[in-house]
Amino acid sequence: MSYQHVTIPEQGDKIRIVDGKLKVSDQPILGYIEGDGIGPDITTACLRVWDAAVAKVYGDKRKVHWAELYLGEKAAGIYAGNYFPDETMDAIKDLVVAIKGPLTTPIGGGFRSLNVSLRQTLDLFACVRPVKYYAGVPSPMKKPEEIDAVIFRENTEDVYAGLEYQTGTPENLKLAKFLREELHAEFFEGAGLGVKPISEFGSKRLVRKAIEYAIEKQLGSVTLVHKGNIMKYTEGAFRAWGYEVAAQEFGDVTITEDEVWEKHDGKPPQGRIVIKDRIADIMFQLMQLRPAEFDVLATMNLNGDYLSDSLAASVGGIGIAPGANMSDEVAVFEATHGTAPKYANQNKVNPSSLLFSGVMMFDHIGWFEVGKAIEKAFESVVGNKVVTYDFARQIDGATEVSTSGFADHLIEAINRQ
Ligand code: NAP
Repeated sequence: MSYQHVTIPEQGDKIRIVDGKLKVSDQPILGYIEGDGIGPDITTACLRVWDAAVAKVYGDKRKVHWAELYLGEKAAGIYAGNYFPDETMDAIKDLVVAIKGPLTTPIGGGFRSLNVSLRQTLDLFACVRPVKYYAGVPSPMKKPEEIDAVIFRENTEDVYAGLEYQTGTPENLKLAKFLREELHAEFFEGAGLGVKPISEFGSKRLVRKAIEYAIEKQLGSVTLVHKGNIMKYTEGAFRAWGYEVAAQEFGDVTITEDEVWEKHDGKPPQGRIVIKDRIADIMFQLMQLRPAEFDVLATMNLNGDYLSDSLAASVGGIGIAPGANMSDEVAVFEATHGTAPKYANQNKVNPSSLLFSGVMMFDHIGWFEVGKAIEKAFESVVGNKVVTYDFARQIDGATEVSTSGFADHLIEAINRQ
């Protein structure tokens, strides 16, 4: 494939998918997108830390060859005003794995969110957010170390599907008439209307991915989060399809919570992943009161959106929460916060959200030792109260450092290991 502005490093190898599994050489090419606002500051810092960790752990044996790809404002400067170039989408598909900083959504002019466009164009149906506590990070929880969960949020359906009809428009009036006259629905005059599609296909592929993750990581449970008690045919259906895919495709390695109680006296048999479900509002309570009971959470779009930010807050907030958007082939890892424009180019903000998204990315390609080295360095540096401004204002006696200064400390700590 030839590109107009993207340079694919000659020395590296593209990651390929063989029999549904990633095939990664010792010299893989990974794509990165700087992003807007604080994006360049955090990306520059993280690239240094990731490379230092790879060099420390693997010496000359392994190396990442980075390919810069463009989205957002930097893309607009290169591609004659185009914030969302087609060749960036082609390159992400071609490289299979990429990581990105935050992107500004230009206001006005009919621009769609670039992040939403990216998810839709590449059909990145699963938003994956690990929520884990690192020693030294300021947390409002009494026992934040008990939180270690991964949220799989469905990214394409639900009330976010864009099927909304503004009050007074011809579409709204037409739909309202149909609902009243054909389906005998009752609602107030002039109501704005939205549609909440939840499909078997969309639900099953999401829950399947969550279960596959639990199998790969040898985790104890997958919890289906829903409001099926109220929305029976959407959220309730998600729950039913979730149990169905577990039984049909993973029957030999999963067991339902009901079966655990009925047949095994409440103790899950060795090697079985417990499939359970919880009502969404209770889930928020449980993750504050008994977080240790949960490993993987599978959610629809809206519930997952709320839950992932709420859980991120309990382990340090959006300055540190990592994430990824995935299809069955492509994975795009990303900082979960925005572009924080007031801090752009000030070398000030916390790079940890992108940093830990990188840890996820290295785990994804099977280079687990890299992530471990970074996590260990992070706990040592933050444990010494050397932090960026956001943590400094929450930690007494902290030493505040810049984005690049924080990266320097991490690299020193990696090299000391
Ligand atoms: P934001 O950029 O996430 O910033 C909100 C606040 O969060 C910041 O003012 C700062 O808090 C804190 N923060 C964010 N990143 C931080 C970091 N790395 N380190 C420390 N603190 C951090 O949200 P926003 O201001 O609502 O959105 C700005 C732009 O980002 C918008 O154009 C929006 O569309 C875009 N956005 C993009 C993404 C994405 O690309 N994934 C996601 C969300 C928003 P303090 O002011 O308290 O210091």
